[in-house]
Amino acid sequence: MDTQADVVVLGGGVVGTTVALELQRAGRSVTLVDKGEVGQACSLGNAGWVTPCFAMPLPQPGMFLKSIGWLLDSKSPLHIQPRLDPTLLSWLTHFLFAMNRKKMLSSIEVLTELSKYSLDYYAEIAGRSSGLQFEKKGLLMVSATDKGVAGARAEMELMQERGIPGRAMSRDEVLAFEPTLRPLIRGGVFFPEEAQIEPLPTSIAIAQEFQKLGGKILQKHEVFDFELSEGPSPKIQALRTTQGRIACDLLVLATGSWSLELTKKLRTGIPVLGGKGYSMTFQGITKKPTRSIMLVDRKIAITPFQDRLRVAGTLELVNQDFSISVERLDAVRSGAHEYLDLGGGETSSPTDIWRGLRPCTPDGVPVVGYSKKISNLFYCTGHQLLGLQSAPGTARLAADLITGKSPIVDPKPFRAERFNG
Ligand SMILES: Cc1cc2nc3c(=O)[nH]c(=O)nc-3n(C[C@H](O)[C@H](O)[C@H](O)COP(=O)(O)OP(=O)(O)OC[C@H]3O[C@@H](n4cnc5c(N)ncnc54)[C@H](O)[C@@H]3O)c2cc1C
Repeated sequence: MDTQADVVVLGGGVVGTTVALELQRAGRSVTLVDKGEVGQACSLGNAGWVTPCFAMPLPQPGMFLKSIGWLLDSKSPLHIQPRLDPTLLSWLTHFLFAMNRKKMLSSIEVLTELSKYSLDYYAEIAGRSSGLQFEKKGLLMVSATDKGVAGARAEMELMQERGIPGRAMSRDEVLAFEPTLRPLIRGGVFFPEEAQIEPLPTSIAIAQEFQKLGGKILQKHEVFDFELSEGPSPKIQALRTTQGRIACDLLVLATGSWSLELTKKLRTGIPVLGGKGYSMTFQGITKKPTRSIMLVDRKIAITPFQDRLRVAGTLELVNQDFSISVERLDAVRSGAHEYLDLGGGETSSPTDIWRGLRPCTPDGVPVVGYSKKISNLFYCTGHQLLGLQSAPGTARLAADLITGKSPIVDPKPFRAERFNG
């Protein structure tokens, strides 16, 4: 069946649903389209952190030598499978150029602002909806090496300059503060203002608010092609989906790690690769930590929800590879065991083993803005490790740009032109 829409938001992850809601609120008539169901892809099993202190881009200075190690070590927290793939080589070239302090600081500036906005946004929406388990209990970063502790403190100083409070803690303070941590810890940093939220109920609550405002959701509609007008400045006329054709005036592309393949069909090609990560959830833990913990050395996130514990981590750069690596899964579980005493053998049988592909741009900054090549195409993708915590901020930025309001942050770092898109 053919449908006519004003704005189509393609992708019902946390990013697409928040953009759809913000645009509907701003007076546009929006249809949200997804090939599956709302919030079931990368937005499903993530760690649930809304932690502005963690608003760092993936590429950071000093990573060059480390990244060679990642190519060779399949167990490292960050891994790049070596292969002669032109897409990967081009992505890695951009990534290498983004590994400098100036670029990192400018990215932190905007990512922090958007994450702070999201923190308030989630607090508000959790006040209106039940079951979101929004809790502002802070985030503890710990390490078992002096180098790791020094790194966490350097991050704390960077974040304090941006108005995010943090407190350095000695080994003894950390162990008294969080008794589930094992004595190998050398020290850490506590950020008291950070929060956590249940990812799936959050996307669903946002989608429900969108529908209450008159927004339309088309689930199980897979877009497999686009109809473009001919000529020097082409426009999207319609989307071809497995359930029929959808004509639209504006397309907002929020398809996470699928963005590269879809934008190739649009002849733009935004370089988003998947940063595959895993999470596992444990029920019935007797000694649950009281707050979220970042195990800096293993890059593992521990999230105690009210009724269960989630352990998430590792990043492997892939292109649409959803296979499960037993080795990497075990690295997440054994890393959690090494650092935490959860009171027995409960962690040997996780209930929900999950993997998701974080949509990663090579410079670690999402793409939020109009296409340079197609006038009615707007991107909102590439939210890397921070999609949950930056979605409301980027949705607001997108709505500001589309409705001609003054944008909440400088839109320049987010532009698609940087990838010739
Ligand atoms: C282990 C792990 C832990 C994480 N922890 C955190 C965290 O604590 N905090 C945080 O902020 N972030 C975290 N993240 C990152 C976060 O999960 C992602 O950045 C975020 O979910 C991306 O959201 P999205 O909406 O862009 O993508 P997705 O949620 O993947 O949504 C994209 C949607 O597009 C749809 N789609 C794709 N192609 C088509 C098509 N052809 N037709 C129709 N629909 C299509 C898909 O079905 C999907 O629903 C974590 C990620 C992982 C893997």
